Amino acid sequence: MALMITEDCTVCDACIEPCPNEAITAGEEIFVIDALRCSECIGTDEEPQCIEVCPSDCIIPNPDFEESEDELQEKYEMIHG
Ligand code: SF4
Ligand code: SF4
Repeated sequence: MALMITEDCTVCDACIEPCPNEAITAGEEIFVIDALRCSECIGTDEEPQCIEVCPSDCIIPNPDFEESEDELQEKYEMIHG
């Protein structure tokens, strides 16, 4: 399941650099996660790195992108293949 950022985002910029998939960008008002690039950090880390650094607790599962761990691993490998 990819993650998404809610409107509680304060645009603090902390989450862009830790993302291993370059999935996070600055949107018009808040930061945005590209669901097609978010592997929930499967492939590199035990925990989602964006959630680890976010001071606003505004990163949540994206209900439109339900994926298994295997699918997330495949997504990671597609991005970095
Ligand atoms: Fe990037 Fe990992 Fe956050 Fe997904 S969970 S947006 S891959 S840091
Ligand atoms: Fe927004 Fe959290 Fe990313 Fe900061 S770390 S830009 S509050 S999503």
